[in-house]
Amino acid sequence: MIYRKELEIRYTTDVLVVGGGAAGVAAAVAAARMGKKVLIVEAQGCFGGVGTSGMVPSFAAFYDGANLLAAGIGAEIRGNVSRDVPITQSWTPIHAEELKREYDRIITEAGVEFLFFTTVADVAAENGHVEYAVLTSRTGLYAVKAKVYIDCTGDGEFTAMAGGKFSCGDEDGNTMPPTLCSLWTGADAEEYFRTDIRARLEEAIDDGVFTYEDRHLTGMSFREDGLAGGNIGHIFGTDPLDQRSVSDAMVWGRRSMLEYQKFYREYVGGCRDVRLAATAGMLGVRESRRITCDYTLSVQDFIDRADFDDEIGRYCYAVDIHVMNTSREEMARFEQEYRKNLRYNKGESYGIPYRSLIPVSFDNVLTAGRCMGTDRQMEASIRVMPGCFITGQAAGTAAALAVDNHGEVRRVSPLALQYALVSAGAYMRRELRPALR
Ligand SMILES: Cc1cc2nc3c(=O)[nH]c(=O)nc-3n(C[C@H](O)[C@H](O)[C@H](O)COP(=O)(O)OP(=O)(O)OC[C@H]3O[C@@H](n4cnc5c(N)ncnc54)[C@H](O)[C@@H]3O)c2cc1C
Repeated sequence: MIYRKELEIRYTTDVLVVGGGAAGVAAAVAAARMGKKVLIVEAQGCFGGVGTSGMVPSFAAFYDGANLLAAGIGAEIRGNVSRDVPITQSWTPIHAEELKREYDRIITEAGVEFLFFTTVADVAAENGHVEYAVLTSRTGLYAVKAKVYIDCTGDGEFTAMAGGKFSCGDEDGNTMPPTLCSLWTGADAEEYFRTDIRARLEEAIDDGVFTYEDRHLTGMSFREDGLAGGNIGHIFGTDPLDQRSVSDAMVWGRRSMLEYQKFYREYVGGCRDVRLAATAGMLGVRESRRITCDYTLSVQDFIDRADFDDEIGRYCYAVDIHVMNTSREEMARFEQEYRKNLRYNKGESYGIPYRSLIPVSFDNVLTAGRCMGTDRQMEASIRVMPGCFITGQAAGTAAALAVDNHGEVRRVSPLALQYALVSAGAYMRRELRPALR
């Protein structure tokens, strides 16, 4: 079928940010604070992506033990929702409702124009230049024209629609299994943490409580209000880019929580009265497209604690590739890699080059967050929310500078970018700071 339609250009803007997760919000706010006209579009009804709509229960580390790496917009957001939790703490429980309101605040105060329940459905690109994004919402299809576009869709959807290059998963295209996150009531945190949950999980597996022998249980993150966020269970065999597969994953995710409710009630201390309160309306996808960018941040960079001249910040989270199947060997692989081999000591981090935010295929597109330019192992480090805040703020700042250069993202001077980032409170390694003065 060939479908042709003339579309109204409903918005023209300096910067269009596609996707309002952690990366998208940071990008939009950074560009708007630099005086640019910014529109952000989000398919769901709130900002935050998997951190709110997907009910991911905690922030990973903002701090490497010596330096506040996710300084700037990330630290501002976290500071406003978790005032009582020191920023030096490795994991911080998320109260999704507070986080949604904080995202609303920061976006509106920055003067960003925003549209919820709005999806980029197509992209018109020619000769390596994106001309228009085609949006769909309740009023049908229309176009947006921007000078710079930022792909913060998590799945690299915008770049893929524009015909850009990407890779996905391992050599065979297999990706980490997603999780449908959840919210629980009635658990006593103290007793819960006194339980040897791994041993009890093995018993429950032997007793046939579960359909799948999933030994990788991240578990519950307890909030001060007695609720606990659940990062529980893996939905093996899901293809995150296939709508049929994702739909089936939602159904299984909801059903499988009853198996975990039984497990917690009957095997885990402090959980006799535990009850599933809710599951998320959005699947927790850990891995999908990685956009091919001018530089691919690699696991060798992690090992080398790499420095880059065009560094936009640094990050430190371990390489966290969850189990790909239910075998004991795969669990042992995860343990070895995540807990021992690919984890940093205090004060260690890797640099993130600006080039890893520039998709190879275009002159006016940037990316940030989970889908930025990495290899598979590095995606499993930078994908956590503090990493997305760092790269989002950098992409938004670079976009604002590019607007003054006819939208050409490769004409942004790394030094000017670093200067703007540091001026906005972002972290920059000490050796780069004197050069900025
Ligand atoms: C189960 C699970 C547990 C995790 N645990 C933690 C944790 O404990 N701590 C931590 O820090 N991180 C954790 N992470 C990782 C982290 O939450 C995510 O990787 C990160 O939030 C991704 O942010 P993002 O902005 O790149 O993308 P997302 O949060 O995925 O946001 C992308 C947004 O784009 C929107 N979108 C997509 N396509 C379009 C389109 N075409 N048009 C308009 N909008 C679109 C989506 O609706 C979404 O809101 C976890 C992830 C998962 C899945």
